Amino acid sequence: MIRIQEILDAVSANNPNADLELIQRAYVFAAAAHAGQTRLSGEQYLSHPLAVASALVEMGFDEATIAAGLLHDTIEDTKANLEGIEENFGENVADLVDGVTKISLIPFENKEEAQAENIRKMILAMSHDVRVLMVKLADRLHNMRTLNFQKVHKQRRIAQETMDIYAPLANRLGLHSLKRDLEDLSLQYLWPDVFNQISHWLETHKVVEKQIIDKVVSLITDLLASNGIHGDVYGRIKHLYSIYKKMQSQSLALDEMHDIMAFRVLVDDIKDCYAVLGLVHSQWRPVHGRFKDYISMPKSNGYRSLHTTVIGPEGERIEIQIRTEDMHKQAEHGVAAHWVYKENGRIHSRDLEQFSWLREIFERQSEEADSREFMRSLKMDLFKDEVYIYTPAGDIKELPEGAMPLDFAYLIHTQVGQHCAGAKVNGRLVPLHTELKNGDCVEIITDSARNPNRDWLKLVKTAKARNRIQHYLRTEERTHAIALGREMLEKEGRKVSLNVGKALKDGHLALVAHDLNYENVDELVAAVGYAGVTPRRVLNRLYAVLHPEEVAATVAPPSVAKDGGQRKSEGVTVSGVNDVLMRFAKCCNPVPGDAIVGYISRGMGISVHRNDCPNVANMETERILSVHWSNGEQKPYEAGIFIIAKNEHGVLAAVTQILAKNKVNITELTLETRVDGRANLHFTVEVGNSTQLYELIEAIRVLPFILEVVRDSEGVD
Ligand code: MN
Repeated sequence: MIRIQEILDAVSANNPNADLELIQRAYVFAAAAHAGQTRLSGEQYLSHPLAVASALVEMGFDEATIAAGLLHDTIEDTKANLEGIEENFGENVADLVDGVTKISLIPFENKEEAQAENIRKMILAMSHDVRVLMVKLADRLHNMRTLNFQKVHKQRRIAQETMDIYAPLANRLGLHSLKRDLEDLSLQYLWPDVFNQISHWLETHKVVEKQIIDKVVSLITDLLASNGIHGDVYGRIKHLYSIYKKMQSQSLALDEMHDIMAFRVLVDDIKDCYAVLGLVHSQWRPVHGRFKDYISMPKSNGYRSLHTTVIGPEGERIEIQIRTEDMHKQAEHGVAAHWVYKENGRIHSRDLEQFSWLREIFERQSEEADSREFMRSLKMDLFKDEVYIYTPAGDIKELPEGAMPLDFAYLIHTQVGQHCAGAKVNGRLVPLHTELKNGDCVEIITDSARNPNRDWLKLVKTAKARNRIQHYLRTEERTHAIALGREMLEKEGRKVSLNVGKALKDGHLALVAHDLNYENVDELVAAVGYAGVTPRRVLNRLYAVLHPEEVAATVAPPSVAKDGGQRKSEGVTVSGVNDVLMRFAKCCNPVPGDAIVGYISRGMGISVHRNDCPNVANMETERILSVHWSNGEQKPYEAGIFIIAKNEHGVLAAVTQILAKNKVNITELTLETRVDGRANLHFTVEVGNSTQLYELIEAIRVLPFILEVVRDSEGVD
C-alpha cells in the first residue's frame, strides 16, 4: 500500500509551494470515511484512493485533483456527503468529487458500438472540468490493475467497459500511455489466451527486437544526416493490444507478424516529410499498398502524418511514420482529439484553447507557483455546443445546442417527425419551440393525422429535420399543383368539348406530355398547375393528337399573350419550379428589392405583384405563390414616377437632368398642365432595383418647385 507520505513528498518535489495541508486533510477524511472497509484483495479500502491519488501525482496534477482522488469514493461508498466535503475542502474539490461520482452513475448496460461512443461523449459533456476525467481514469486504471480479485464475469464486464469507454477517452485526451495501459489490461481479461501468447512471445524475442530497433534508428539517422535533413528518429515495440489488432486485421499468426516495431521520424517541415519518405523508399523496398498520405488527406480527426512500411535491413517489415514536430504534438498531445477538429476540418479556436490548457497542465504544472489559481482559471466546458438527450428507453441521442423537440423527433425516425403532434420533456408537455437541454428526457407524441407545415421550418435546428420538412412541403405543393392543373385542364376542356379525364385514361395526354417535352403526364399536369404551360396550349396539342387530319386547318398555333405592355419577368424565380411563364403585374410594377408574391392566373402564367399591391388582398390565397428575385445579372426594370410640380419654366429640364445624372433611361414621359397652375409629370424609367428608384424619388423631391413625388401606381389622383 502506498503511504500518504510518499504522495506528499512527490507533490512537494513537483511544487515546493504546494498546499500539502489540503492533501493531508483529505487523507484523514478518506481514512475515517473508509475505516473498516476492505477491498476484495483483502487490503484496506484506503489503498485504492491512495493509488488513485498517486497516479494523479505522477501525471503532475494539482493539490485539488489529488485531494479529489483521495476522496473520490467517499460519497458513493461511505456515509460522507457532498455538503460535508464542500464544508471541509471547498467548492473546488467538492465539484471534482461530485463529477466523478456522477460519472459512475451513468448507465452502461448497452454495449453497442454507437452507444459506447455516446457514453464517451456524455462523460465528456458532464465533465465541466477535465480534472474530473483524470480522476475517473486514474480510478479505472487502479481498478483494472487489481481486477484479478473480482469474479470472472465481473472482470469481463469491467474490462469490456474499459475497452469501449475509458481507453478511447484516454486516447481523446491525448493520454497515450494511459490508453495503452488500459488496452493491454483489458485484453488480458477479455482474451487471456491471446494476451499470454503475445506477452510470452514478446518476452522471448525482446533482445533481438531491441537490437533491430537500434540498428534501424541509427541507419535512418545516418540517412538523414548524409542528405542534410534535420530530424529525430525514434523506435519502439508496439504495445500488446495493437499487435493483437494487427494479427486480427491481417489474419496473421504471431510468427508471421513482422511489423511489430514502429519507427517515427520527426522533421522540420512538410517538404522534408516527403524527402525522408523518398530516401527511405530508395533505401528499402516499400511494401505495396501500405503507403498512406495523411498529410494531403488528413484523417477525420485531423491526424496528419505519412505512413509507410518497408522491408528493413534484417528482412523485417518495419512501419515508419514521418511527420513534422507540429503534427506530432497534435497527435501525441491529443489536439487531434475529436472535438478539436470538427467534420469539416476547421479548427475551432475555442477548442484549441481548451486543449492547450490540457497540454499546459503537463508542461507547466511544476513551474506554477500557485497552481490552484492556475487550474481554477482554466476550467473547461467540453462539448458546449452539443446537448445529449435521453429517449424514454434510456438511449442517448446527440443534438446541436438550441435543438428543439422536432429535431429530436426527426432524429428518432422520419415518420416520428412527420407526425409529431407534441412533446414531453422530463414528463411534462412542452411547446414545440422549447430548446432542449443536456440530460433532458424527451418523448414525442405522434398522431398519424398530423403533417408538417411551413411553420415547422422555424422550429428546427438540424439540417436533417429541415430537409425532411422541406421535402414534404415540396411533395405536397406538387400534389396540389397536379390537382389544380387537372382542374384547370378539365374546365378549359369542357369549353371546347375535349374530355380531359378520358384523354388521361386513354394515354392521349401522355402523348401530349411527350410532344411538349415533359417527362410524363404528371409533370405536364403539374406544370399547368404551376402555370408553366397554359391549358390552352395543352388542349391545342391534345386536339392535334386526337384529330391529326384536321390539325393544320382548324387549330390555331399556341397563343401568345397579346398584351404587349406586359414585361417578361426575367430575374424572378419561383422556388422549385423552372421555366414558368411569368409577368410583372401592370398594377404595381415591381422592381428588384420590392417584396413580391406570385399569383397563378388561369391561362396567363404567374403574375408578379408587389406585396403591398391592393389587388393582392383580393386574390385567392391558394393561388398565391412565394417568389423571389434571383441574383442573376442586373437588367433594368421599368418603373413609374409621378410628380406634381408648380408649372414653371425649367421643371422638366431639372427633373430630366437628375435622371440623366443617374444614368437612368426614360422610356416614356407625359406632362399635363392643370388649371390650378400646376403640372402632372409622369415618367417611366428603367432602374436596376427599388433602392435606386427610391433614391431618384428623393433626389427629385428636393428640387425647389416639386410639390409631390411618388412612385407611380401608388394611387395619386
Ligand atoms: Mn474508485
